[in-house]
Amino acid sequence: MDRIYIDDLKIFAHHGVFSSENIKGQNFYVNVTLFLDTEKAGTEDDLSLTVNYAEICALIEKTMTENTYKLIETAAHAAAAAILRSSSLISEVEIEIRKPEAPIDAQVRSVSVKIGRSRHTAVIALGSNIGDSRELINSAVEKIKSSPFFWDIHVSDMMITKPYGYTDQPDFLNGVLVCSTMLSPIGLLDLMQSIENSAGRTREIHWGPRTLDLDLIFYDDEIISCERLTVPHPDMHNRRFVLEPAAQLVPGYVHPVLKKTVAELLRELDE
Ligand code: ATP
Ligand code: MG
Ligand code: MG
Repeated sequence: MDRIYIDDLKIFAHHGVFSSENIKGQNFYVNVTLFLDTEKAGTEDDLSLTVNYAEICALIEKTMTENTYKLIETAAHAAAAAILRSSSLISEVEIEIRKPEAPIDAQVRSVSVKIGRSRHTAVIALGSNIGDSRELINSAVEKIKSSPFFWDIHVSDMMITKPYGYTDQPDFLNGVLVCSTMLSPIGLLDLMQSIENSAGRTREIHWGPRTLDLDLIFYDDEIISCERLTVPHPDMHNRRFVLEPAAQLVPGYVHPVLKKTVAELLRELDE
């Protein structure tokens, strides 16, 4: 993959854990590596086919001066999000923030944080059958839309479905959301669970009534199996309430284990 580098962009900002840093401010130096394909821009000598590094510098400056963070980790995370959102040409970004004037009791040239972030596609199933389900789901979608770590968000129609598994409970409202994100699978699960918790989600009966359920169906074409997370969701291919709304948005998405598209899985379930 081709790269564009920005070397030691100097920005005066106010990040730090000490209030004196937030008041006085200090210089930060930012190094960036953008990963993208520049072949077409190189062939046609056309700026619109690549990334304008002046715009990236301005974007980093804006992110770092319009906000005051305690941590350069947070500043780097936020700047990476702004960069990935700014152009679909950029598949990955590395960003290092150096802080040469860090007020620590040691002789160092500088301290720094370097992170790498990339764009991923996530497919999330939405469900609710207690309370004002439409409002609970809308508010979950709004929380995702207002987060800087998500973009290109599409939401299916919502459908009313009969309960699955444990049937002695009210009907569900279900839908699917597809988005781009720079969060890791576990980072995404943490955020989904914090949204569930803020909707008052409790877990008494497995597959029982719930104010809000957010399940990660696909994350790129990754196959994940760890204590907290199984992706693709292990039961998605048996669930019309997942496949039907997913087929509205991403009919051609290939299940990385079953090697079938969402449209094919839905057709098989119908048969
Ligand atoms: P189901 O996952 O069969 O639809 P559920 O949604 O009712 O059941 P929850 O109570 O929401 O289950 O979640 C139980 C646990 O499942 C969570 O704590 C989470 O760690 C784990 N989990 C594993 N894989 C996933 C996934 N793909 N999406 C969401 N949670 C998952
Ligand atoms: Mg579920
Ligand atoms: Mg769940």
